[in-house]
Amino acid sequence: MEALAQSATEGRAERQREVVQALMATLPPHCLLYRDEDTAPYECDGLSVYRQLPLAVALPETEAQVQRVVQICRRIGVPVVPRGAGTGLSGGATPIGHGIVLSLARFTKIVDVDPYARTATVQPGVRNLAVSEAAAPYGLYYAPDPSSQIACTIGGNVSENSGGVHCLKYGLTVHNVLRVRAVTMDGEIVEFGSLAPDAPGLDLLAVMIGSEGMFAIVTEVTVKLIPKPQTAQVVLASFDDVVKGGEAVAAIIAAGIIPAGLEMMDKPATRAVESFVGAGYDLDAAAILLCESDGTPEEVAEEIVRMTAVLREHGATRLQISRTEAERLKFWSGRKNAFPAAGRVSPDYYCMDGTVPRRTIGMLLARIETMESKYGLRCMNVFHAGDGNMHPLILFNGNDPDELRRAEAFGADILEACVELGGTVTGEHGVGIEKLNSMCVQFSEAERAAFFAVKRAFDPAELLNPTKGIPTRARCAEYGKLHVRGGLLPHPDLPRF
Ligand SMILES: Cc1cc2nc3c(=O)[nH]c(=O)nc-3n(C[C@H](O)[C@H](O)[C@H](O)COP(=O)(O)OP(=O)(O)OC[C@H]3O[C@@H](n4cnc5c(N)ncnc54)[C@H](O)[C@@H]3O)c2cc1C
Repeated sequence: MEALAQSATEGRAERQREVVQALMATLPPHCLLYRDEDTAPYECDGLSVYRQLPLAVALPETEAQVQRVVQICRRIGVPVVPRGAGTGLSGGATPIGHGIVLSLARFTKIVDVDPYARTATVQPGVRNLAVSEAAAPYGLYYAPDPSSQIACTIGGNVSENSGGVHCLKYGLTVHNVLRVRAVTMDGEIVEFGSLAPDAPGLDLLAVMIGSEGMFAIVTEVTVKLIPKPQTAQVVLASFDDVVKGGEAVAAIIAAGIIPAGLEMMDKPATRAVESFVGAGYDLDAAAILLCESDGTPEEVAEEIVRMTAVLREHGATRLQISRTEAERLKFWSGRKNAFPAAGRVSPDYYCMDGTVPRRTIGMLLARIETMESKYGLRCMNVFHAGDGNMHPLILFNGNDPDELRRAEAFGADILEACVELGGTVTGEHGVGIEKLNSMCVQFSEAERAAFFAVKRAFDPAELLNPTKGIPTRARCAEYGKLHVRGGLLPHPDLPRF
């Protein structure tokens, strides 16, 4: 066994030498990392329970270098994992052991801000928040606002179709991107979409957005900018029952109101954040809703009246309305700090990301509560309620292998409950490696084969971020074998391994 392990290590070292030598021919030394201590910072993304050192990390500075790197990798059969800031939560940027990481961290140029067309053209390594900062002098901003916006990149946002608090009213990344320029695994430069509001032909722009680095490497993006609202106010509503809170969310949308943000936090979440940031939350409430209105002062005043009426009618026990901008930001500070607050009450947390129809939010929360006893783990819920996009944070200790196993099983169970309630296994964090098994539950074999066919149309050699996003037939068969639901074996026709 020892001899086998040694020969595997030697085999890896030899392959690494070959790959590094090939890349050295095209990249200057400061654009290539291959020593373990240099590649270690790239061994995981935000899904840090999975770690793997790549053979090398390429940090190109120009599009021509990206082209040459992928051409070399294609020629010698090396998988390439594109990477932005590595904040992804589903393992999309987790390295592949026999592959390289291609970091776009040096593509940080804001190419153009056009206040007349209300667009910004940026390189993929530009941080999400930096786009709004560049647009601010013109009274404009970029609406999709993931909570990670100070760090995550536009390339990552495009690849994950990222969302955020304001996406309920202003749309996800896919609704706010006009054009993407990218390099395929053949080294070819392709453009999707256009600067015009519509482009002829099939809408491949929408196919690229959310493709998790599996189709092409994004090298430039043109996004839409919108005027900053004149004012905003937030209503903080308390509920004595999480199900009532969920029903109030559905009722607000049913009343024809599209708030600028509609977020929900349960009691474990408000307790954790309150001791951290002191946002002024009602700690007796089983759940709170943050409902934001933005626009002109007249529009906001009218919407707040309508929103509070619906909330009262659906059982809100207490309503607080922000009176100043400072108070509005204070109310939001709790929501924005919920993830770090989870890190203060538990050694580790596992952030799930499933979506359900709004009217079933309460049902899912009730099921999660039952699962807490089943798996013997606590869970905090903080989520984009208006989109039905749930983010249960499962609290566990990663040093205990059994707790990690239970946390993963708990997470998978939540996603399957989302599917049963008519939802999906991902809302905004992507599939990556985290949700491959859950994809087996959501999609049939024929559907998964169609996904692979689209992948091969972009990347016939299957070298660009392979093993992510789409589960293989064998994997689903294996998962099915282990996973018996209600006594029934799924996919009984498939061979078992
Ligand atoms: C605290 C915290 C809060 C978060 N909140 C939100 C939230 O509110 N909403 C939300 O949607 N997400 C959220 N996320 C998840 C994450 O920030 C987003 O998915 C983000 O878009 C990832 O961007 P990144 O630059 O870090 O990409 P990475 O993690 O580096 O990569 C993500 C995926 O994109 C691919 N990729 C990256 N760059 C390129 C490129 N140039 N070309 C092709 N493929 C590429 C990678 O291969 C990978 O599959 C949060 C994460 C954290 C840690």
